[in-house]
Amino acid sequence: TTGGLADTLGKKVYVVGGFVRDLLLNRENFDIDFVIEGDGISFAERLNETLSGTLMTHKEFGTASITLANGSVLDIVSARREYYEYPAALPTVEKSSIWNDLFRRDFTINCMAIQINIANFGKLIDFFGGLEDIRNKRIRVLYNLSFIEDPTRIFRAIRFASRLDFEIEEQTKSFIMEAIKDHMLTKVTNDRVREEMAQIFTDKGVSKSIFLMKSFNIFTAIHSDLNITNETITKIDNLWSTIEKFHRFDNKKIDIQLLVIMQLFHSFPLNKLSEAIQKFLNNKQGIVNIQIALKEKEKVYTSLLKDDIDKYTIYSILHNHCLESLIFYYNDCTEYYIKHYIMYYMINLKNIKLKVTGRDLLNLGIQPGPIYKKILDTILKSKVMGEIYDEHDEIEYANKL
Ligand code: ATP
Repeated sequence: TTGGLADTLGKKVYVVGGFVRDLLLNRENFDIDFVIEGDGISFAERLNETLSGTLMTHKEFGTASITLANGSVLDIVSARREYYEYPAALPTVEKSSIWNDLFRRDFTINCMAIQINIANFGKLIDFFGGLEDIRNKRIRVLYNLSFIEDPTRIFRAIRFASRLDFEIEEQTKSFIMEAIKDHMLTKVTNDRVREEMAQIFTDKGVSKSIFLMKSFNIFTAIHSDLNITNETITKIDNLWSTIEKFHRFDNKKIDIQLLVIMQLFHSFPLNKLSEAIQKFLNNKQGIVNIQIALKEKEKVYTSLLKDDIDKYTIYSILHNHCLESLIFYYNDCTEYYIKHYIMYYMINLKNIKLKVTGRDLLNLGIQPGPIYKKILDTILKSKVMGEIYDEHDEIEYANKL
């Protein structure tokens, strides 16, 4: 449809960037970026007459997007003709607008296009050796000032290397190191850093990303006390199998980003925690949960290691913690008994709830007051200890109290 319409209008049209990369890698990608040599917005309007999706236009940028019923998003931009001030070594001959569009992009693997006009359908446009780099599993920038021009590309290089299991090419690595040495990361806004971190921390390749970030001294550049050890990286790597274990007993959606941050900060000085976490996360409840998990950690571990621990003690130690904290404790501690008790709690204790309510106590003729809490706590304790089982038992027990 798109290629046919472009033919009708006499324009060249391409799919570009991540979609082409993922197509060549045989990876799913439902977001398609189109570049049209001409006005992207009127092209998108015409295209949507056939596709009947939801069209959004951004006149100030000359871009449009169409969201289809199946959730796919088509982004349509106009190939830009304006010339950027790039390093002097560039050839001065006039380049095609698709060349200009691709040259503005970050890595060779993201700088390819496929023409989709009917006559040239499927023609790969690869000015910078992207296909070769895909074959060699390499992340490579187009020119040496790339990271100076946009330091967020440092995070992107790390993210793609981990996600695709590619290597960052040696020269590109040295450009990253130079940019970091020149304090380029301080030019990235906190919001952008947090956005990049959110993407890195929720990807399965997170431990490789963290290894790379450590090797580029990115953590210490973000906060001078954030010294990540290899042991921490191994624990972050283990997070996925730990999560799987917990998923068997609780299929609630787990906030992986919180878990990664908890593990990253597991031995961070508590008095500086709040300020440091904010560099990675801007979600109040999330920050509070991380702080509680880390501040309570030692107390939880020592309490669980006491002799003669009973079910109700395990319950009391753990039941106020969010699921992420429990997973973090399990993943972080090295002590067999702590892991064992946390898992015991997950399987046998976590879902114990009282059926009896204040209304039942009222029906038994008990006058409302602080006594209600005492009675309900006592019944809960008996239930956790396995002395009573069902609602009938609970009411009978309340009656006795
Ligand atoms: P994914 O969305 O799967 O993470 P993607 O490659 O589609 O991967 P986007 O962030 O959506 O990533 O970017 C789309 C395209 O825009 C990229 O393929 C790249 O060509 C270009 N791009 C994105 N960010 C930058 C940047 N900071 N500098 C240069 N080009 C960029």
